[in-house]
Amino acid sequence: MSPSFSPWLHRSLLASTALLLAPMGCATSSQAGAARDEAALRTDAPPRVKPKWGLVIHGGAGVISRENLTPEREAAMRAALTEALQAGHAVLAKGGRSLDAVTAAIRVLEDSPYFNAGKGAVFNHDGVNELDAAVMDGKTRMAGAVAGVRHIQNPIDLARLVMEKSPHVMMVGDGAEAFAQSQGMPLVDAKYFYTEERWQGLQRALEQERAKQAPPAPQGQPPASQQPPTQGATPAQPLTPGQPSPTPAQPSAPGQPPTTPAPSSPGQAPTTPPPSNQGQPATPAQPQPGSSLTPGVDPITGDHKFGTVGAVALDQEGNLAAGTSTGGMTNKRFGRVGDSPIIGAGTYADERCAVSATGHGEFFIRYTVARDICARVEYQDLPLPEAANYVIHDVLVKAGGEGGVIAMDRQGHVAMPFNSSGMYRGYIGEDGTPTVAIFQQP
Ligand code: ASP
Repeated sequence: MSPSFSPWLHRSLLASTALLLAPMGCATSSQAGAARDEAALRTDAPPRVKPKWGLVIHGGAGVISRENLTPEREAAMRAALTEALQAGHAVLAKGGRSLDAVTAAIRVLEDSPYFNAGKGAVFNHDGVNELDAAVMDGKTRMAGAVAGVRHIQNPIDLARLVMEKSPHVMMVGDGAEAFAQSQGMPLVDAKYFYTEERWQGLQRALEQERAKQAPPAPQGQPPASQQPPTQGATPAQPLTPGQPSPTPAQPSAPGQPPTTPAPSSPGQAPTTPPPSNQGQPATPAQPQPGSSLTPGVDPITGDHKFGTVGAVALDQEGNLAAGTSTGGMTNKRFGRVGDSPIIGAGTYADERCAVSATGHGEFFIRYTVARDICARVEYQDLPLPEAANYVIHDVLVKAGGEGGVIAMDRQGHVAMPFNSSGMYRGYIGEDGTPTVAIFQQP
């Protein structure tokens, strides 16, 4: 038996175990399923799956630990990832295009409040959600991208409209929203994107920023950030979501949904790198000085995580596609745009390779990560997993860039390396069995 088929056997055996347990309908069966999936998608032995067609997704990478993820939240996130895989599979199974499978899967994750895209997007420094997305068709190399949009429910759909209904590749801000309207896409109120969790995430980021900027405490006194809050004091000074803030941020009731309805017309402002776990050992660089960005801190789990969503697919015709959608990074400022909508950085597909990335975008832009992986496949004739592992575990780690990618080649080989402690990820092939994993080790 070819060694590349043994994981399939392993997985089938594990799957049969899960099937035997399933009728029991108890927590044990879902725990067994989760353990099976974690084993199948373990990162130190990436699955050498080779289907004729399939779909891979991610829901962001970062410091994700079992201790800090509640069973309820983990179950909800696994369910959303499974739903996304099934949405994409339904398209591919009918003989649909990889492009349609990618957008169908991403739409599910954008609509979920658990991922940093669409409904669950993080807030920028001004308390506003600004969304970026991109899609690329490997067969034609057509691509579409949007950045800094504030009223688009499913930015991935707008990216696709840019690709298919305009002569351009990328549109930003008000212009992109005007284009959406010209194509009959409705704008949604900025309030749609409000989630309490993300709002609290911004408050923590602002608090951390203030603590860093605070002058050192006089001798003999603990620093302000370690002092107990005085009665009635609000440690963080939250903004009203959807309203641009003066600097410094003005206090208002923490955790309250927007009080002022945000306008829905465009043009108006709405109210240390982890160790590598595989590949060649690399020496991480020091964090870049001067970065005021706060990589996403999950407000529920307290974990440092990103949370962008993405998908890559290979259809029955042998065509590849890739897409990525994000709210960017918590507390971003000045119209900052990350790698997700940049073709070749966070998103890329050609006739032999498709990649979607998640992580600290500035690094993915500077190292043109998605295209670098595909270029290694093209020019060096490297197997996809080798090319992806090298870029994520060597090039990026040496640079100090945290994150991961999902990737597929035209033979259906899959890679999903990440250099953080976790990455929400999933795979579905011809047999329609969704496999979802989060952690580095099963
Ligand atoms: N790559 C995204 C960005 O930098 C963030 C993420 O992946 O969560 O905007």
